[in-house]
Amino acid sequence: MAKSKTTPMMAQYNEIKAQYPDAFLFYRLGDFYELFNEDAIVGSQILELTLTQRNKNSAQPIPMAGVPHHAAQNYIDILVDKGYKVAVVEQMENPADAEGMVKREVVQLVTPGTRMKTTADAAKENNYLVGLATTKPDDYGLAYTDLSTGEIKATDLQSVNGILNEISRLETKEVVTANELPSDLQASLTNLGILVSKIDQQASEHAEIAFLTQHLTETAQKTAAETLLQYLFDTQKRSLDHLQQASAYEVAQYLKMDRHSRANLELTVNLRTQQRSGTLLWLLDETKTAMGGRALKQWLEQPLLDADILMQRYDKIGELIEDFFGRSALQEALQSVYDLERLAGRVAYGTANGRDLLQLRNSLRQVPDILAILADLDPAIFGELHSQIDPVADIETLISESITDEPPISVTDGGVIRAGYDEQLDSYRDIMTNGKSWLAELEAHEREETGINSLKIGFNKVFGYYIEVTKANIPKLDPERYTRKQTLVNAERFITPELKEREQMILEAESKSSELEYQLFTKVRQIIKDNIQRIQTLAANLAQLDVIQSLATVAEKYHFVRPTLTDEQTIAIKDGRHPVVEKVLGHQSYVANDVDMQQDDTILLITGPNMSGKSTYMRQLALIVVMAQIGSFVPASEATLPIFDQIFTRIGAADDLISGNSTFMVEMSEANTALQNATKHSLILFDELGRGTATYDGMALAQAIIEYVHQHTQAKTLFSTHYHELTALADELTALRNVHVGATEEHGELIFSHKVLPGPADQSYGINVAKLAGLPETLIKRAAKILANLESQDVSLRTAPMPVTQLADTATAMVTDDEKTSHEKKSTDNAQLALFDLPDPIDPETKQVVDELKNINVATMTPLEALMKLNEWQQTVQ
Ligand code: ADP
Repeated sequence: MAKSKTTPMMAQYNEIKAQYPDAFLFYRLGDFYELFNEDAIVGSQILELTLTQRNKNSAQPIPMAGVPHHAAQNYIDILVDKGYKVAVVEQMENPADAEGMVKREVVQLVTPGTRMKTTADAAKENNYLVGLATTKPDDYGLAYTDLSTGEIKATDLQSVNGILNEISRLETKEVVTANELPSDLQASLTNLGILVSKIDQQASEHAEIAFLTQHLTETAQKTAAETLLQYLFDTQKRSLDHLQQASAYEVAQYLKMDRHSRANLELTVNLRTQQRSGTLLWLLDETKTAMGGRALKQWLEQPLLDADILMQRYDKIGELIEDFFGRSALQEALQSVYDLERLAGRVAYGTANGRDLLQLRNSLRQVPDILAILADLDPAIFGELHSQIDPVADIETLISESITDEPPISVTDGGVIRAGYDEQLDSYRDIMTNGKSWLAELEAHEREETGINSLKIGFNKVFGYYIEVTKANIPKLDPERYTRKQTLVNAERFITPELKEREQMILEAESKSSELEYQLFTKVRQIIKDNIQRIQTLAANLAQLDVIQSLATVAEKYHFVRPTLTDEQTIAIKDGRHPVVEKVLGHQSYVANDVDMQQDDTILLITGPNMSGKSTYMRQLALIVVMAQIGSFVPASEATLPIFDQIFTRIGAADDLISGNSTFMVEMSEANTALQNATKHSLILFDELGRGTATYDGMALAQAIIEYVHQHTQAKTLFSTHYHELTALADELTALRNVHVGATEEHGELIFSHKVLPGPADQSYGINVAKLAGLPETLIKRAAKILANLESQDVSLRTAPMPVTQLADTATAMVTDDEKTSHEKKSTDNAQLALFDLPDPIDPETKQVVDELKNINVATMTPLEALMKLNEWQQTVQ
């Protein structure tokens, strides 16, 4: 019986599949979506479905797996979460009416960048799809949109790195392009797990695309936005009327942070858990609406440079802190505002149901209250926002008048439109309700007439309305009037002419009224759709207000202070705190610290034992800067700050898993980025730079980098180090100051004060920290001996003595004051030479290296060149 001929259905399947080779095809077959062939094999593994076969007995059975149509969304979500695309193929006609094959079409292509999550935890996140265009080398256009909210932004970028920074800021899952991307960009996107969708760019004659991109003037960004939109229109196959006109932005309008710095500072993602908890966003988020939550995240991702806007935000926060009652009233009102941006999206798609409109109405009802609250606040501060808010009252009225208070989920089964909204509908409903009471009356009447008390009137789908009489009572009926319709075991069902006529009217009214209701509903939805822009503007205004109230709430809760912005390059923070660490430890346990950097202080060199709080101190400054530049109050008792243009960080030892580079390589390339790009207005944080390599080259690089910053960059720089030798640089470099984090030793135990104090630290305490961590006593003693040994060798290696830390038998011996003084004195005599002054070489290779080393000009090398040189030398002497 084997036949291998393709059935008409499989032919149809193959034809559609050929158009979507890179997507899983969910092919609707009755109550199931079926996957075939390769899709079925791979899909059944990912989705844990049973793999079966179609045409089992044929020569070439077809692998098949199916999901029930009502559960399809879950399965689609799983696939799209994993970075796949899913093409949903629907039956376009009722199979019963079809002549031959049922017509089927792809109704939507769901992709990682265009899917709309509906779960509550996704509400405070955007899902951005990015379009990229390369018009000429090093001129890229980048456009992005969140399909559920409809915003579109576009910019020009000059480097692959710039693109990667934007893409990681946006946490995008999918990039669309019509161009061949540079291979390094392509590779990085793949490593990041980002899906790259290629499209054939047609010269855009799509009127809607032209309209949406008309404000973009630069070629690259315009092309990127066109690509993006083209892809949306191709894949979504539905109304996208909520898309807003694209607007241009420049990366330079915002405080620049590369992706490593963002990640290091844990602004929105916790490095360890990859969650929101423990981040600055988590701390600051007291927003009451989903739109506010998304806006706060956007603010954190793009802090500003404009002092005027920042000060307006401070004013608003200050005003709301003062007016406690106003603020709580505002929170209460916002609490009842639903996600207007996404509701607007659903209206545009035509997927909004009665309940969505009710949510819209309830949200709009809050606006007059919100306006009243704003009117009570200082008009100099809130007047402008007040005047910008359009309550969209006409739409509120429309929905109130047209939609019932408890509409069903379905929009086709009736029960959506309010009584009194439409006369015709009311008359149908009258017939239906009156018809039903008429039936009750008829039942009573019939019982009386016939004397059969058990007589009842009922309804079923097949026979319609009927009069039911038990068999024993049948003789009492007048056979002229009662026509038999159905016989049951103990009873018979009849119909009378009167009943028949009534039935006709009721059934007609029922079907006509649901039809009319649906029409009325779609009309209402259309009117709302025509007003989408107003709703979107309202949403944006409420989102901003929500962020402001959130920032006011946390400012009060955690005792933040309004920062003062200065044009000078000075930092004066009193009692600064790391807000997240403080929240975790509790206000009482956190030791506040000052940061004081005058106009010509460039570098703070921070020393102190491990775990004393060096990196917390550095992060604290960066977070205070970010907070000030989103317009938030800051965790300090006083704070004066300049506006920084960029923040660079090298913190933590996390390997760059994306590029596969080693820790040290990442360390050096991050340092390089900072050195190449920082300006006088930037902030640099280097935590233990050079730690990733052997002591001497690490130290050499650290020193060279400090000197470079000092001479060339002059960015405000915090540099923590465990190379105590570097503290001597303070004598050479006028703009460098030493500070240290205090620790004292009591009975061999290390006590951290977490207090940042002037001057260099005494010793590194490494072994004490190990002891603190509970390593075995014998091991600690052994380490102390090895250290003492090493340090004595150190001395013999150098002509100028390095710091002498005489450790006796135990790890706890302290440096005597005398020794310290002599170390500081001697090492400062010749601080820079000391690093490279080695004893006479033994063999020619070593000599060659030393000669080269002596002649090299460290100050003119880039860190990377230095690194390569070191590597070369290491090869030579090994
Ligand atoms: P380091 O960079 O010097 O190794 P960290 O900055 O990582 O040290 O701090 C280590 C721990 O010390 C932190 O996890 C925190 O619990 C605590 N800590 C740091 N700074 C403070 C502070 N100012 N007040 C209280 N505890 C602090």
